[in-house]
Amino acid sequence: METDDLSLPIFEAGSVWLVGAGPGDPGLLTLHAVNGLQQADAVVYDALVASAILDLARPDCERIFAGKRGGKPSPVQADISQRLVRLAKAGKRVLRLKGGDPFVFGRGGEEALALVAAGVPFRVIPGISAGIGGLAYAGIPVTHRDTNSAVTFVTGHGVGGAVPDGLDWAALAKGSPVVVLYMALKHIAAIAGALLQHGRPAEEPVAVVSQATLPEQVILETTLARCAEDIAAAGIEPPCIVVVGEVVRLRAGLDWQGLAAGRVLDPDPLGPSRRRETG
Ligand code: SAH
Repeated sequence: METDDLSLPIFEAGSVWLVGAGPGDPGLLTLHAVNGLQQADAVVYDALVASAILDLARPDCERIFAGKRGGKPSPVQADISQRLVRLAKAGKRVLRLKGGDPFVFGRGGEEALALVAAGVPFRVIPGISAGIGGLAYAGIPVTHRDTNSAVTFVTGHGVGGAVPDGLDWAALAKGSPVVVLYMALKHIAAIAGALLQHGRPAEEPVAVVSQATLPEQVILETTLARCAEDIAAAGIEPPCIVVVGEVVRLRAGLDWQGLAAGRVLDPDPLGPSRRRETG
């Protein structure tokens, strides 16, 4: 790719770029990410980064697998941060490549703070988060004028790996018409149960998008009451985004990948009864 005319930054030796790789489809990388990959001496990457994306690094670039998956204990995290510091202090151009956006449930903030503590210069390159871009590939917008003016992003894993107890599920159920859940598969029954218990309707639509934006992408549409059972029955595998809310109905009109495969789309997927008066 010819990126010379864009005045993209030079990757200085001894610095770290904290880069979001997006949800999987290499086309969703930013130009800053590609520019960084073309210059990096070392790439430290996570489990969710596709090999086609790593292939954009220079052939002589050192590729280091950080191998962290959500919910693992923090000593591993400290090791990764220290590794970034060591590589940078050795004068390398270090690209830390994370799935989605580095600052969305990605511990990018922790790694950046370790760099600050060690006096290592860094740059942050945002990426498309799975909870937004992954849902867009499934034809589900996270906001829509007729359904919601707010959306909440929630992790299904707390610090200790359990459903986040610190969350006020009553407030969430009442105040957030759309809830987008990351890392929620393991605890989906408890999460759906909490939302139901605090007043969300049993028939509220839920979509599960597995391997979003990748060729292996699988989408399951279900309801809050049935989702845990349906996910198990369908054998859905992580990584997955789960979205709860009326926006899921828009998929009947906006499933653009389905359109390409011959699906007939409904231009009025919410129907007159569900459309808010606009004007
Ligand atoms: N920083 C990432 C999230 C890291 S947490 C981001 O912004 O997207 C890891 C979780 O992200 C996974 O458990 C899953 O819930 C979600 N995820 C990441 N990539 C995904 C993909 N391609 N499809 C579905 N979910 C994905």
